[in-house]
Amino acid sequence: MKRNTGQDRNVTQNWKPATQAIRGGTMRSEFGETSEALFLTSGYAYDCAGDAAARFAGEQVGMTYSRLQNPTVQMLEERIALLEGAEACRTMASGMAAMTAALLCQLEAGDHLVAGRAAFGSCRWLTDTLLPKFGINATIIDARDPQQFEDAVRPNTKVFFFETPANPTMDVVDLEAVCAIAKKHGIVTVVDNAFATPVLQRPLDFGADVVAYSATKMMDGQGRVLAGAVTGSAAFINDVLLPFTRNTGPTLSPFNAWVVLKGLETLDLRIMRQSENALKVARFLEGRVPRVNFPGLPSHSQHNLAMRQMKAAGPIFSLEVDGGRKQAHALLDALQLIDISNNIGDSRSLMTHPSSTTHSGVAEEKRIEMGVNEGMLRLNVGLEDPDDLIADLDQALRAAGL
Ligand SMILES: *Cc1c(COP(=O)(O)O)cnc(C)c1O
Repeated sequence: MKRNTGQDRNVTQNWKPATQAIRGGTMRSEFGETSEALFLTSGYAYDCAGDAAARFAGEQVGMTYSRLQNPTVQMLEERIALLEGAEACRTMASGMAAMTAALLCQLEAGDHLVAGRAAFGSCRWLTDTLLPKFGINATIIDARDPQQFEDAVRPNTKVFFFETPANPTMDVVDLEAVCAIAKKHGIVTVVDNAFATPVLQRPLDFGADVVAYSATKMMDGQGRVLAGAVTGSAAFINDVLLPFTRNTGPTLSPFNAWVVLKGLETLDLRIMRQSENALKVARFLEGRVPRVNFPGLPSHSQHNLAMRQMKAAGPIFSLEVDGGRKQAHALLDALQLIDISNNIGDSRSLMTHPSSTTHSGVAEEKRIEMGVNEGMLRLNVGLEDPDDLIADLDQALRAAGL
């Protein structure tokens, strides 16, 4: 076999993350290409009918159909698994496909889960609307307090589901404490790690069982494609998740997988620089608006916890103005450099008003309960020069009367 046609996990898992991000999972074809090949194929041909039968029987290694396997997708899955320190990974067509699969594959009628109240709007739709239709009920808690997880546990509780930091309130969950509670009760912890990525935070190291991603965000990092991923033990991925995804088909396109593979090569560089830029911008805003919710700031009530479990605070935070939706929209409308956009993780700075965009589908009383008020804005700080971003915010704040 040629060098790098296939990799030995015993070797690659000892590489440092920066090496894994560039080389992890690489499989070279007979042409010896240096950049990963893009295999746009839905099917595979066999040398003989017996080979086809053997592959379907699982007796021969090889691919059968791109809903099940694809070389480009497989390279990405191995790379994400290595970065996460997970035994296995399966990618999905989007972050929401990943969250839905990670929950539905292991829950059934009569089961109960405990979920953090501060969450991405569609994640709240899963716990509040979709799962109850199938007889799976959730208790929604303030995930900043580990005791609330303990108090919500019932005999039929199967899953803890939360994000940290959470979108867009930036609530931080104590991973070690919450995972310990889950372990004690035999509960599976599913962490949505979209805001941190494995560069900043590896929930498995704190005892989590399953880590799920919107790879649309920091992993692509340049606002190009939708993608998702679920990582965990080989037993969970192969025996619990795979039967669900192979048959329901939330499969990632090889093209999108290839784009994310390229994105991962610069993930560490981008997220560290964007975290630095975000801190500069947040420090500026701290003196100008009533509230900045950013765990990277020493003034944040969960700063010490965040810095204990994260390498840096990431590129995203929220801020609050007192003048409600009117003033928040006025600030957005005055921006000249930063785009009004609800995406995050992009190398461009983007700002949105969650209560009228990402969280507009969440009922008003639930928005208020989770801390998403009408004066809240969420900012994704990109790779532009932070001085230009501060100048843009400065003039927009003045235009909005701040
Ligand atoms: C964006 C996001 C999702 C959904 O991901 P998509 O790729 O848009 O489907 C889920 N959770 C969090 C925390 C997100 O930011």
